[in-house]
Amino acid sequence: MNQKYQSVKGTKDLLPAETRKWQFIENRIRTIMHHFGYDEIRTPIFEETSLFARSIGEETDIVGKEMYSFPDKGNTSLTLRPEMTASVVRAYIQHHLGEQSSVTKLFYIAPMFRQEKPQAGRLRQFNQFGMESIGQSNALCDVEIISLAAEIYRSFGIEYELKINSVGDSQCRPKYREALQKFLRSVYDTLSPESQKRCETNVLRVLDSKDERDQEATMNAPSIIDFLCADCKSHFDLVIQSLDAVGIRYVLEHRLVRGLDYYTKTAFEFISNNLGAQDALGGGGRYDNLIEELGGDPMPAVGYAAGIERLAIVLEKKQFAFSHESTFLYIVGLDDESREFAFQKALELRRNGITTEIDFAHRSLKAQMREANKLQSRFVVIIGDEEMKKQTAVVKTMASGEQFYVEFPNLLSYFDSTK
Ligand code: AMP
Repeated sequence: MNQKYQSVKGTKDLLPAETRKWQFIENRIRTIMHHFGYDEIRTPIFEETSLFARSIGEETDIVGKEMYSFPDKGNTSLTLRPEMTASVVRAYIQHHLGEQSSVTKLFYIAPMFRQEKPQAGRLRQFNQFGMESIGQSNALCDVEIISLAAEIYRSFGIEYELKINSVGDSQCRPKYREALQKFLRSVYDTLSPESQKRCETNVLRVLDSKDERDQEATMNAPSIIDFLCADCKSHFDLVIQSLDAVGIRYVLEHRLVRGLDYYTKTAFEFISNNLGAQDALGGGGRYDNLIEELGGDPMPAVGYAAGIERLAIVLEKKQFAFSHESTFLYIVGLDDESREFAFQKALELRRNGITTEIDFAHRSLKAQMREANKLQSRFVVIIGDEEMKKQTAVVKTMASGEQFYVEFPNLLSYFDSTK
């Protein structure tokens, strides 16, 4: 017996029943992105490793543990992208996109790769949709991104909780980091080993540890909100006021720091209580220093990234009614000559936008009718030698069972008008 292969651990095939749903999801996301003035960007699946290391941060889980990196034949270290913001910013700088308008608004729908421990809602190849608004520091840009994410979830009837915080900037965050470090030293022995390590390397992340020991130990930790500089404070106040003004509800979560280093000021997450342990639908925030850090002119920006698998899980749980275009017409040919004709007619109808199916297995009329039923075809066209002689097809409406005749030359115009 030859070896049978399985998909690699943490990856998933999307089979036709699911791809139909995914296309529905993706189409809706694309439409809403366009309504908000965002255009699609597609970048290569791999980039130079240092692009991610420099932007996401050497000490983060993603860069430290999860990247799929490999040397190519020229010994350049490449990495399958673990997230998209770094690639979008690289492309923005490379192609001078900022020269075209005062704000560059981009979205993507694309696969990402992280070598994490696979579990429900956590894969090694997963898909994200996301958007980036580059060029303006206006708090309304943050609110536009948040409203766009909220609108996508609202359009699917998904309930969510929006958690929001400010993580400060290079002026005020170092002072907070110091204060937090000082506090954590006082509770050091009660922290988990992972967080003890983070006290030195990535101290803010101790705050969003899921470990109960850490949660308890940091209960009385200083809050970043008390350390914000005037600029960060007024930006945050404006974001909150504008969210109130557009009627988007949120929860202030001063422990929210996000796992990527490049965030400044606003940080936020959309949470669903339909997801179990992996409850984040997506997360985002402002990253005002990243473009300069990656070699561009200083340029403020804000973005959001969200898992499509997680969105699909929530939709499945709430039994969302996906609508899709099913087969419209099934043509049954009863002998060789009719089958030949059915094949030609099917091509003509398909070229004119009518979803048409035929049988290739020379099955009986009954079997073909069953197949048409399974495909939820609206009409069946039956052609045998009698029909070939009269150049007229028998047409059956599947819902009512009603039968009538349509002359061959009129088939296209008939179905075109009933589409
Ligand atoms: P992050 O870039 O880590 O903030 O991720 C943003 C969103 O992408 C998360 O909130 C999830 O919805 C999704 N996501 C991240 N990692 C995974 C993964 N390994 N598998 C599935 N979805 C993921």
